[in-house]
Amino acid sequence: MDIKKIKEKIDSEQIKKIISNYGFYPVYENENILIYPTICHNIDGGSHKLYYYKNSKLFVCYTECNSSFDIFELIQKMEKLRGFNITIFEAISKCGINTFDFFEEVNYNSIEQDINSLYSLLRTKNTEIKLNSLDQHILSRFIFDKNALSIWYKEGISYDTMIKYNIKYDPIENCIIIPNYDLDNNLISIRGRFFNDDGAKYKPIIFNNQLLSHPSALNLYGLNVNKNYIESIQKAIIFEGEKSVLKMDSIYGNKNYSVATLGKNISMQQINLLNKLKVKEVILAYDADYKTYQELKNKQLEYIKIAKTLKTFFNVSILFDYDRNKLDYKDSPIDKGKDIFEEILKQRLYI
Ligand SMILES: [Zn+2]
Repeated sequence: MDIKKIKEKIDSEQIKKIISNYGFYPVYENENILIYPTICHNIDGGSHKLYYYKNSKLFVCYTECNSSFDIFELIQKMEKLRGFNITIFEAISKCGINTFDFFEEVNYNSIEQDINSLYSLLRTKNTEIKLNSLDQHILSRFIFDKNALSIWYKEGISYDTMIKYNIKYDPIENCIIIPNYDLDNNLISIRGRFFNDDGAKYKPIIFNNQLLSHPSALNLYGLNVNKNYIESIQKAIIFEGEKSVLKMDSIYGNKNYSVATLGKNISMQQINLLNKLKVKEVILAYDADYKTYQELKNKQLEYIKIAKTLKTFFNVSILFDYDRNKLDYKDSPIDKGKDIFEEILKQRLYI
């Protein structure tokens, strides 16, 4: 699925034709830009502050909208002003484009869903949210206790790695402490791996009645440590949990290109973080949440959907234990060590 190809097909002559259907024409044009009245937020035009940049194929409204959008989003905005809520997919058809020419899929509904979900993700792009940073001193109430942390050591996380990532232990709550940092090394949350068997295994720490959490969609665990290597190879591997990043560090040291999303969803904010580091290739390394071949097939469909959205930005591949004999149920691809990981990596599925 390639929305870029569709956009490439539309030249500025077509843009003018599409907008002329609404009775509007550019007030100025040169080789780089078209200037329109602000038809994005005024039903009958407005000041001449809507610029179309021919190179990037994006409109920028310099007044009320104060944002950039493409022709399909503009059509959506204009329809909305006229009382019609249309999807991006419907906007594309309004531009007179036959989407079937651009997709391998023959399933009309799935093309429609993909396009609409991609745009709802893209729409979050302008909201760069600054996360609150916590006082680093909070961490001093926890201890580095080799004995208590040996449970993770036995799973393949070295003590050096734990020190590097500031992993500690809380003897009062009996939990392992996992500090989360943003790209600039600000402490943004502290998660605990609890060993008392009541309730969730992983949850945010409460300190002085304050829940030390952050919206996980806004950050990538491990990026602050691995950003230089990731930037140098322009590649990142995305795991679900922090422990996988720590295991990668224990095996590969400074040649660790992993991060964790703390879940399966990937947000525009996370994509932006990878874009900042000029990442070109992304490998999805989700847990083996499948026992049978059929379950694997179902998961594959689910993951391919996420991968397709990412494909607008990166080359994407996904890790699977195809023979279902390398990993145990719910294992992360790194859980059985270096050799198994590298075997699974070799067999990855390119989307
Ligand atoms: Zn506007």
